[in-house]
Order: sequence, then C-alpha cells, then structure tokens
Amino acid sequence: MLMSQLYSPTLRETPSEAEIISHKLMLRAGLMRRSAAGMYAFLPLGLRVIRKVEQIIREEMNAIDGQEVLMPIIQPAELWEESGRWKDYGDEMFRLKDRQGRQFCLGPTHEEIVTALVRSEVRSYRQLPLRLYQIQNKYRDERRPRFGLMRGREFIMKDMYSFDRDHETLDQSYWAAYHAYKRIFERCGLEAHPVEADSGAIGGDVTHEFMVLAESGEDLVLFCEACEYAANAERAEGVRVPVQEGEKTAFEPLETVATPGASTIDQISAFLGVEPKDCIKTLIYLADGKPIAALVRGDHELNEIKLKKFLQCVELELADDETIFKVTKARTGFAGPVGLSIPCYADYAIEHIANAVVGANKDDHHTLNVNLDRDFQVTAFTDLKETQPGDPCPRCSGTLQGARGVEVGQVFKLGTKYSDAMSATFLNEDGKETPLVMGCYGIGVGRTVAAVIEKNYDEDGIIWPLSIAPYQVVVVPVSMKDEAQASAAQSLYEELQAEGIEVVLDDRDERPGVKFKDADLIGFPIRVTIGAKSLEQGQMEIIWRRTKEKQSLPIEAIVPTIKNFLRDGDQI
Ligand code: ATP
Ligand code: MG
Repeated sequence: MLMSQLYSPTLRETPSEAEIISHKLMLRAGLMRRSAAGMYAFLPLGLRVIRKVEQIIREEMNAIDGQEVLMPIIQPAELWEESGRWKDYGDEMFRLKDRQGRQFCLGPTHEEIVTALVRSEVRSYRQLPLRLYQIQNKYRDERRPRFGLMRGREFIMKDMYSFDRDHETLDQSYWAAYHAYKRIFERCGLEAHPVEADSGAIGGDVTHEFMVLAESGEDLVLFCEACEYAANAERAEGVRVPVQEGEKTAFEPLETVATPGASTIDQISAFLGVEPKDCIKTLIYLADGKPIAALVRGDHELNEIKLKKFLQCVELELADDETIFKVTKARTGFAGPVGLSIPCYADYAIEHIANAVVGANKDDHHTLNVNLDRDFQVTAFTDLKETQPGDPCPRCSGTLQGARGVEVGQVFKLGTKYSDAMSATFLNEDGKETPLVMGCYGIGVGRTVAAVIEKNYDEDGIIWPLSIAPYQVVVVPVSMKDEAQASAAQSLYEELQAEGIEVVLDDRDERPGVKFKDADLIGFPIRVTIGAKSLEQGQMEIIWRRTKEKQSLPIEAIVPTIKNFLRDGDQI
C-alpha cells in the first residue's frame, strides 16, 4: 500500500470527544470516525485490525468445533415475547416496525434467534453437541455510550451458542470456550483475567468475564492476594462472620431524638457525632411492585443485583416518596427497621451492630441504641453489601484487592432457560423429549482492539502487537525527491511484498518528521528508514516501534531480519 493513496487521515490534535487513550489514538491515527453517539465508521487501517482480531477468533472457534453462521440483525418481537425478554430488555433495545406495523428489534444478542433456528431442526441427541457462532454487529441503546469502541451503541460481537444433551456435556462446551477465549486474548497480545461474574439480562448461573486490567475500565475487579479467587465487584461474595459470644454487650435503652434536616448517613453521623458504621441504612424498595425494606451498615453500599437475585423478582426499584410515606409514616430519609410491617432483609454485617442509629419512621427524627431481636426482627439475613477492596476473601483467609477492568468477553452457562421458554427439545437416548442445554459466549471485537491500545501505547502513539497490526512494516524514504532513495525504497517495498509481508511505502512528498510522526502514531511494528547518507554506505535503518531500538544494517540484511522477527513473533 502506498501511503499517498491510503485513506488514513491522521490528526495532530486530540478531538475533544475523546476521553480515554484508546479512543484518542484511534481517532488520531485515522482508524475510525464517529457518525453518531456510539457509532463509528472504520477506515482502512482500523478495519484491518478488526479483521485480524476476527480471524484469530474465527480460528479458535473453529478449533473447538464451532461452526460459523450469520443470523439476521433484525429480529421479530414474537421470539422475544416467547422468552419474556421483549419487556425485560427495556430501553436498551432498539425497536422498529415494518410497513405492516409488525414489531422488530435490532439484535442486542441472539439467544432467541438461535434457539428458534435450532429447535425446528435438531431432533436427536446424535446431532449434539452443536456449537454455532457468528461475528456481527450488535445494537444496544446504551444509557451512556462513551470511550469510543469501549461502549458503543453499534458494535461488533462474536457470539457463540452451544447446545448440549445434558449439564455434563454443557460443562465441556463451557470450558472449551473458556480456554479458547484465553488463547484468543493471548494471541491478540492481551492479558485477560477470567473472573466470576453476574449473568445480567442474559440469564443463567455460572459465568466468567474476561477482564483486562486498565485504569479506564468501567468495572471493579476484586481478587484475592492469597488464592485464585477473582470476581467482578458486582458479584463478589460477602462473607458471613459468626457473631462471637460477648461481642455485643451493654445494650443501652432506646431513645428517639430530633435530627432536623439530617437524612443521609453523612449528615446523621456528623449531627450526632457517631461513626457511619454504627448506623443502619434502611432502604425501601418495590420488588415487583411490593414494598420491602433492605438494611445495610451505614458505611456500606447496597448491591441491587444481589438483592434482586435473593428476592428472585423481575423488577426492583427504590420506592417513591408516596410509598415510603405509606410504609414508614415519614418523609424519605427517616426510615428505620423498628416497627416496620413489611418484609425486612438485612446484610450479614447488621448482625454485628449493637446500639445502632436508625431512622425513627418519624419526620426529622432518628432512634438511638437500636438492637437486633430486642427492637426489631428481620425476615432474613443475606449477602447484600457491595463487596470492596479490603474485604475478606470468600474462599480463604486472604484479603481482597481491587483493580479497574475492561470486560472483553464473557462466557455463560445458560442451562435450559431459553429452551424451556421456547420449547427447544430433542429426543434423548431413551427416546424422551428433553430440553436442549445451552451456553452462550461473547467477545466484543472493537472493545478488544480498544483494550489492546489501552495496554500498548506511548507518548507517540499506538504500539501494535504484531498479530493484529494493520501492516507489519512501513518503509520511509527521508526524501522522495532523491531518486536513489525513492528507487531503493521501491525495491525494498516490492521485495517485502513478494515475501508476503504487509508493508506500506510512505511515498509522500512530506518532511521526514511528519512521516516519522505518522508512522509512530499509527504504530507499525517495524519502520525501515532510508536516508541519503546511509544509502551511500549501502545501509538502511530498522526501528522497532515497541522499544524504539534502532539498527543500521546492510541493505541485503533488511529483509531476512524482518522475516526472522515476524517468524519468531513479537510478544515483547
Ligand atoms: P457491559 O457489562 O460492559 O455492558 P455486557 O455484559 O452487557 O457488557 P455481554 O452481553 O456479555 O455484554 O456481551 C459480550 C461482549 O460484548 C462483552 O464482553 C463486551 O466485550 C462486548 N460489549 C458489550 N456491550 C458493548 C458495547 N456497548 N460496546 C462495545 N462492546 C460491548
Ligand atoms: Mg457481559
């Protein structure tokens, strides 16, 4: 490819729309351009990188007997009604109507479509296991599209779906995909850590996310310093510590005091001069429309995913002021567990608090010295708090540490959630009609590319791992006006091409500084510079992008050196 012809408009300035490094560099290096919030056009260099990642994914999916298919992006509402997700998916789903007024959506994921595809054709256990995958655009009307390819509203995903005869063989599909994912990210030059995760709107119970640790990550990952345990903070389990004998003594008498205008934990602890950890936060929720109370320690945050899962409800939302008034007889901010007549669920830490401060269920009042059993009862104790760095490990006696992570992929065991809802069955060995046991496995292709950049850049630009670089080599003559340089560059370019090496010749009539800057910004792993002086001595210079190391070599050594380097792979 000739640089003069390449449609790769580079930018010296960072566009104001970009906050994180991968987004900035992808715009500056001319890999892509925005068309609307969360939607991007890939330019030639960007698309080459995307295609390389897709090819790695394809090879690894094929290696575990995945078969590639391509399903429609536009999906009929009826299928989503069968699974119950037409309603559940909410505002994230892009919905549309055809000219007859029939409802459709732009696929945010394909469990429904693939289940419908398979249920009419798979009849017998002999056809199983079946692993189908596709690489395709997905559409999600994200609340906050941002960070370029990290959180788009249109993005490329590889999604695989497995169909098995039972949970044992699902296990094999699941771990095959898990290991394939490890290989895929490794081949892309990424260190991605599998962590236990929540299954969200997809459903199912066993799931791992693959996390790339990076400051810009939107997830908090907790991992144990002593054992293998690692989990998304959304999901990380809290530990129930038994109450020791004598731990809680000296119960003081109840007392209700005026706390005018102080309704948050911070305000109350400042007003009364108590520690937040000695307060109990009482949150009133509507779980499928019914009010319930949830208690967490004043210095803890409630994890709604845990509460929702525990209650097994479909909808969970904080109650409105009117409901709170009905339930507590007080304005929002003064709820407490004493005398409440709705179900009350408490986090494990509540068991340990003596003489707590709670809302008095009376406007502008709080109650002091509140004690479990003596003053209030709970319907159940469970794990409700948001687990944090510094908390104990749920598997060993270690302590959890935290790091920000980018989720580049996720694998799920779905079980029979979709096959039950959509009657996708097969005949087992005994001739009995049995639901298919499913798994699903997603990788964000664009997000993977963005994560690679987050981990591979310097002040001059991107540093591509060889495996996904848009081109491997750029040949830069210092001056195209010098015929000797131009013709040496042209022959090297042709020789590299003949060797099947992906090469760009920077044939532009630009100052060398401009060409070098562009080469560094785009991040070609290898640059060959051809200058007048060295050429006279029969030499050219190789510059390795990652280390910035320079090597002057005799012209005839250039191609073999590059070939060796490419053969050995660059994982430096
Ligand atoms: P997130 O929690 O980040 O919203 P998710 O868990 O909803 O993602 P999945 O349904 O597991 O996403 O999708 C599989 C993969 O697709 C994710 O691991 C991620 O790499 C990618 N992905 C999901 N949403 C987006 C998005 N809005 N933009 C880019 N990639 C995405
Ligand atoms: Mg996910």
